[in-house]
Amino acid sequence: MLMQGKQGLVCGVANKRSIAHAIAKSLHREGAKLAFTYQGDRLKKNVEEIAGELGSKLLYNCDVTKDEDIKKLFEDVKKDLGHLDFLVHAIAFANKDDLEKNFSTTSREGFRVAHDISAYSLIGVSREAAPLMQAHGGSIVTLSYYGAEKVIPGYNVMGVAKASLEASVRYLAADLGQHNIRVNAVSAGPINTLAARGISGFTKILDMTPQKAPLKRNVEVDEVGDAALFMLSSLSRGITGEVLYVDCGYNIVGM
Ligand code: NAP
Repeated sequence: MLMQGKQGLVCGVANKRSIAHAIAKSLHREGAKLAFTYQGDRLKKNVEEIAGELGSKLLYNCDVTKDEDIKKLFEDVKKDLGHLDFLVHAIAFANKDDLEKNFSTTSREGFRVAHDISAYSLIGVSREAAPLMQAHGGSIVTLSYYGAEKVIPGYNVMGVAKASLEASVRYLAADLGQHNIRVNAVSAGPINTLAARGISGFTKILDMTPQKAPLKRNVEVDEVGDAALFMLSSLSRGITGEVLYVDCGYNIVGM
């Protein structure tokens, strides 16, 4: 029961395939008390059901493109929970258009949207979460992908947004470390989720990984859940500003 007595907020559960769902399951297994966000009414019922299965009735609506939503979210969390020990940020979006065409055709607006939702939102939620973590310290984890570092065909503007996200992890870690708040990223291998299906050629990426990865297979979502659990628990208390690869070793192979 690594997370007994700990409570936190999970952002980014869309359905049972979501990486955030796997992280929430690992946290729940280890005794954490959980609260969840959802975006708009479309997914509310889904998230309500998932939260219920993980022993939670704490659900908040938040579109991370809206500062007022983020502010209200943490005001409500403060009222309901008082403080936070951890925060999971598993949110990303890019226009489908920008994931299908050549990278050089990325529009100014498409670039803005991808960076706003996939990178800036980490800064927005971390800023509001920090005052709720300061008394006891806290741990924030976001989700990245290898496309931040190397060119992955079709990942396009999302790769550039993930590079910005990973740099933001380091700057946030440097900023919030004085309050004993740690900020890290888990860089997951490809997993068949709603967001992943928006990436053209995603199936090719899934098929190619086992050929190159040292473990000769794709990563399982529960393995990402457990790695995030490690980063959110006191076992990783000496680690901040890091990107932890959970990709069956894919990233270490040159050819
Ligand atoms: P997912 O289940 O589709 O989760 C993405 C989440 O982002 C959804 O809950 C989505 O909500 C939310 N979101 C998008 N725009 C939002 C907004 N404006 N405000 C609030 N929430 C918003 O897909 P996933 O693969 O688990 O993605 C989670 C994270 O893991 C992402 O950062 C993704 O880039 C990262 N990741 C995924 C993979 C992979 O292969 N799947 C690999 C490495 C990293 P709505 O559905 O309501 O829009």
